[in-house]
Amino acid sequence: MDDRTFRNAMGKFATGVTIITTSVNNQVHGMTANAFMSVSLNPKLVLISIGEKANMNQRIKESGKFGISILTKDQQDMSMYFAGQLKEQRMIDFDWMQDIPVVPGSIANITCNVHATHQAGDHTLYIGEVLDIVVKDGDPLTFFEGKYRNLVNL
Ligand code: FAD
Ligand code: NAD
Repeated sequence: MDDRTFRNAMGKFATGVTIITTSVNNQVHGMTANAFMSVSLNPKLVLISIGEKANMNQRIKESGKFGISILTKDQQDMSMYFAGQLKEQRMIDFDWMQDIPVVPGSIANITCNVHATHQAGDHTLYIGEVLDIVVKDGDPLTFFEGKYRNLVNL
């Protein structure tokens, strides 16, 4: 099967969009990700999947912790920026929850310690043990068929 068929099929699964963040030696790194899911209520665990070529991989391995910011519909440019799709370099003013950076203005910020990792093909799965959560009102940014969408009939 070719890659495009696989990606087209996976793109039929509508998702929200997150920015994963971590900090090593006070240097923050952020990356856009939609491979995010809730895993367990007791204990509270979540999962993200990071491609082997992403700079984020090494950073999370070093820090052992990460933040997840679930984006609002007004943060599409943030999603594009942290996916490396915008040319410019920006100064981002991150919020901090304990020692973990998160993106301000998101509908949810979740901070985690790395609970387990699993190599899966060309990605690494990180299971995060949830440390803290902040939730706000707002409409989500959504991603479907490789395009950003707005939810209707909310
Ligand atoms: P880099 O390319 O190193 O960084 C991304 C951008 O953020 C660069 O412009 C960088 O300068 C900037 N940046 C980073 N930190 C800071 C900072 N502190 N201050 C200012 N600027 C900063 N890939 C996956 O592996 N898993 C996924 O689940 C996933 N989902 C995606 C969903 C969507 C909707 C999109 C568009 C992309 C997704 N990607 C995913 C692809 C991924 O976002 C890109 O490949 C990303 O560029 C790779 O991350 P990186 O760590 O190498 O980031
Ligand atoms: P796309 O059509 O490539 O993505 C559709 C869906 O395919 C995604 O939602 C994801 O579920 C899956 N997918 C895409 N690339 C993947 C990969 N390398 N590994 C595993 N699953 C993948 O959408 P697009 O707008 O062309 O994406 C923009 C860029 O972001 C592309 O370079 C894409 O590879 C990357 N991306 C990566 C992931 C990921 O690694 N999990 C997820 C989404 C997008």
